[in-house]
Amino acid sequence: MNYISTRGKSPSVSASQAIINGMAPDGGLYVPEKWPNVDLDWQILAQQSYQQIATRIFGAFFDDFSNQEIQEVVQAAYGQQWDNQDIVPIHSEKHLHYLELFHGPTLAFKDIALQALPHLLTMAAKKQQLKNKLVILAATSGDTGTAAMSGFGDVDQTEIIVFYPKVGVSDIQRQQMVSEQAKNAHVIAITGNFDDAQQAVKAALGNQELMTLLSGNQLQFSSANSINIGRLIPQIVYYIYAYAQLVKQQQLHAGDEIKIVVPTGNFGNVLAAFYAQQIGLPVAQFVVASNENNVLTDFFNTGVYNKNRQFKVTHSPAMDILVSSNLERLLYFASGRNAQEIQNYMSDLTQKGYYELTATTREQLSQFLAYDATDTEVDKTISQVFKASRYLLDPHTAVGYHAFEQLDGQMPTLLAATASPYKFPQTVMQALGEEVALGEAGLTQLSTITHTKIPNQVRDLFKKPILHDKIIDSSEILQTLGVTLKLK
Ligand SMILES: *Cc1c(COP(=O)(O)O)cnc(C)c1O
Repeated sequence: MNYISTRGKSPSVSASQAIINGMAPDGGLYVPEKWPNVDLDWQILAQQSYQQIATRIFGAFFDDFSNQEIQEVVQAAYGQQWDNQDIVPIHSEKHLHYLELFHGPTLAFKDIALQALPHLLTMAAKKQQLKNKLVILAATSGDTGTAAMSGFGDVDQTEIIVFYPKVGVSDIQRQQMVSEQAKNAHVIAITGNFDDAQQAVKAALGNQELMTLLSGNQLQFSSANSINIGRLIPQIVYYIYAYAQLVKQQQLHAGDEIKIVVPTGNFGNVLAAFYAQQIGLPVAQFVVASNENNVLTDFFNTGVYNKNRQFKVTHSPAMDILVSSNLERLLYFASGRNAQEIQNYMSDLTQKGYYELTATTREQLSQFLAYDATDTEVDKTISQVFKASRYLLDPHTAVGYHAFEQLDGQMPTLLAATASPYKFPQTVMQALGEEVALGEAGLTQLSTITHTKIPNQVRDLFKKPILHDKIIDSSEILQTLGVTLKLK
C-alpha cells in the first residue's frame, strides 16, 4: 500500500519514504492510497495488550516494514517510559469514558506518536539506505516540542530543532523545553504566535535552495509535526484499543456505535479517529472541540474555513491554532479523493485567507459536530467537574468536556483526555479559585489542594538547569537554521 499526496502532483511512495519525506513535494499531505484490510474482531482484540494492537495497526499501514521491525518499534515506543502499563487507561463515569492519553514522558497525548516516530524514522532511513543525517524541524505550541525531544533526544543520525512561541506556553512546558539535555536538541523561542512558527517551518521545509544547501552538508529535513504520517497512524491505535477495552469491561457490546469527542488544534487527533472509523471502528459522531480560536466550529457549521480573524492566546495553548493542517486530509476523502478540489481550497486559503466547501463535499461531513469553549467556560468546567467527581481535568480536556455537555442522548462517548492537569498547574489552580504559584510551588500546591499525586515525570523539573535561551523573530528562521546546523 502506497501513500499519495492530497494535491495529486507528487509520485506515490512507500510508507517508509512517506515517513522520511514528512510532507509531499507538491506541498500536499500523504494519505493512504487505499484503506488497509484490518480484521477487527472485538472479542479477540479485547484480550490483547496495547502493544499487540499497535503491532497490528502499524503492520497494516506501514506495510513495507517487516513484522520484526514493527515489533522492535512498538517495544521501544511503549515500554517502561509510561507510568501506566495500559499505556492509555480509561476513566469511566456512566456513558462518558475519558481516554487518558497523558501517561507518557511529557504528560500529553503527543507522546503516544512521538515515542514511536523516531524509531519508525530511523528504521525507514535504514531501509531507504539514507546516508544523510535527518534534521527534525518542529513548530510547537508547547506539547509537540517537549514530546519530540523526549522521543528524538540522543537518537543517532538525527538533529532536532524546536521553535516555540514566546507567549502562550505554560511554565511547565517552557521549563521542559529549555532544560532539554539531549546533545542533538536545539530549542528556540519565536516572538510571533504558533501559526507564525508553523508557517515559517513549513516554508523552510519547502525551500528548494535550503534543501540543496542541506544536502551539500549531508543533511536532510524531516518533520515531527502531525503532518507526518508516522505521527498520525500511531494515534489510530488508542481508539481501537479503547473500544476493545470497553467491550472487555462490558461497557459496550461489540458493534455498538460510539461518539468520540476530541479537543482539537491541528486536527491530527480527531483525524486519527476518522481513520480508525474507515478501517472499521463503529463511530456515529465525531465531536470537534475548539477553544476561542474557533475556526473549526465555524467551518463545520457553515462550510467556510476562514482564518481571517484575531489569533487568541488561551488557557489551552496547544489548541491555539488558526490553520489546522490535517483538515486537508479529511477534505481529501470527503471530496471523493479530488486532488484538484483540494488544490483550489488550499490556494484560496493562501490567497484570500478562506475557502468554501462545495455542497457535495460538505454533505460528506455530516458526522462531524463542532463546539467551542471560552476560557471562562473552561475554568468553570474544570471547577465543576472537580467538585462533582473529584476528577481533575487539564484545560484542553475541559474544552472537550464542555463540548460533551452539549450532546444529546446517552450514547457511549470517548473523550480524548489529552494532557495531565500537572502540565498546566496555574490555569487549573486559578479555575479552582486558588492562589497561583509558579514553578515547583505550583506543582506542590496543586497536589496539596486536590489530593492528587505529582507525576514523577515533572517532580524534579525545576531543579534542572536552563540550557536554551535563544529568542528570534519568525523572519529569522532560515538564518537561524544555518547557524544552528553550521551549514557551509
Ligand atoms: C496538541 C494538543 C491538542 C490538539 O491536538 P491536534 O491533534 O493538534 O488537534 C490538544 N490537547 C493537547 C494537550 C495537545 O497537546
